[in-house]
Amino acid sequence: MRPRIAIVGAGMGGASLAWALGDTADVTLIEAEAHPGYHTTGRSAAFWVPSYGGPAVLPLTAASRDFFMDPPPGFARPLLTPRAGLHLAAPGDDAAIGALAADFDRDGIDYARLDAGALAERFPMLAEGWSRAGLLEGDCWDIDVAALHAGFLGGARRAGTALLTDARVTALHREGAGWRIVTTAGEVAADIVVDAAGAWADGLAELAGAQPLSLTPLRRTMVVLDVDPVPDPTLPVTFDAAGTFYFKPDAGRMWVSPHDEIPDVPRDAAPEEMDIAVAVDRFQSATRYRVRRVERHWAGLRTFAPDRAPVIGFDAAVPGFFWCAGQGGIGIQTAPAWGRLAADLLLVRETQVDAAPYDPARLAKMNK
Ligand SMILES: Cc1cc2nc3c(=O)[nH]c(=O)nc-3n(C[C@H](O)[C@H](O)[C@H](O)COP(=O)(O)OP(=O)(O)OC[C@H]3O[C@@H](n4cnc5c(N)ncnc54)[C@H](O)[C@@H]3O)c2cc1C
Repeated sequence: MRPRIAIVGAGMGGASLAWALGDTADVTLIEAEAHPGYHTTGRSAAFWVPSYGGPAVLPLTAASRDFFMDPPPGFARPLLTPRAGLHLAAPGDDAAIGALAADFDRDGIDYARLDAGALAERFPMLAEGWSRAGLLEGDCWDIDVAALHAGFLGGARRAGTALLTDARVTALHREGAGWRIVTTAGEVAADIVVDAAGAWADGLAELAGAQPLSLTPLRRTMVVLDVDPVPDPTLPVTFDAAGTFYFKPDAGRMWVSPHDEIPDVPRDAAPEEMDIAVAVDRFQSATRYRVRRVERHWAGLRTFAPDRAPVIGFDAAVPGFFWCAGQGGIGIQTAPAWGRLAADLLLVRETQVDAAPYDPARLAKMNK
């Protein structure tokens, strides 16, 4: 008999898993909001950058590449458009570029070193102190996040997944070997509950009687700036090697993040005035653009395990409770491989990516 699997949370984590399960299981996708991408999934910077997230995440990013390059039927094409990644160091911090290059060499990241001349050619609007040297990551892309998410949800529904929206899970009761799941839109019976609740993942685990894993939502701010001159659309997504900002052009504007990671609580996150001001200030210190106005801003919660690695697998102590959480800042670029890995573990199939580093049991041990 096909297992009955209830996935709580229809953001990128839950949607990619529902799609990967296809018709191998009887799947119900339960979402608290009216619109499944309302929280973190709808608030990303939409880039695919292999070095982002570090070595723990790289296997999932790399294993997602073929899917993005040649999406299966049912997905919009293309899902990716080219957008190089540029890494810079602040004035007086040249060592940061050397350290980053050493990390890239260790992790097998494809990059080229740019000297001052090459950098000026690639990005003429950099402020003087920032234009001495940089690393250009070539294999980087912008992701059509809405199309990716819609592709997962549409494919899952065609394969038989029932999507319940406006359905917040408020209680999880054991019933025989399975679960009775109480939501604000009625009850669902399942053999397995999957926790894909993003910032709410630890709270959902507590409803199931599982030990929370110290998953922490960290707030990140994005601002959209109207700048003079209008940015060249072919500019790279540009990161400070010390992690104090990134920015990229989009539709004639500049998207800027101060790369903030402010501990928060699960909620509909909103940016603080101070973080918006910091974003503008850091952008202005690194470039020669004139900021005309802040056109839009938003914030989202990136949720991390204490070791910042993904959390994918069955709970160590509560049978039938499966974690699909801790997607941090890479839940979009890893989604194809993430969903596949979670589905393979749920269906006890061979996995394409080594699942051991993502085993929730490692965190249960850390918390003891
Ligand atoms: C500013 C910013 C920039 C980012 N940029 C990138 C990027 O460029 N590339 C990249 O790969 N990643 C990026 N990320 C990270 C990425 O957006 C996340 O990793 C990903 O969206 C997480 O998906 P999720 O499904 O875990 O969470 P969510 O999208 O938050 O989904 C969780 C869902 O669970 C639902 N839920 C919670 N509790 C319950 C309950 N009790 N009952 C029912 N439903 C419930 C919520 O309503 C929510 O819809 C960025 C994030 C931010 C904030």
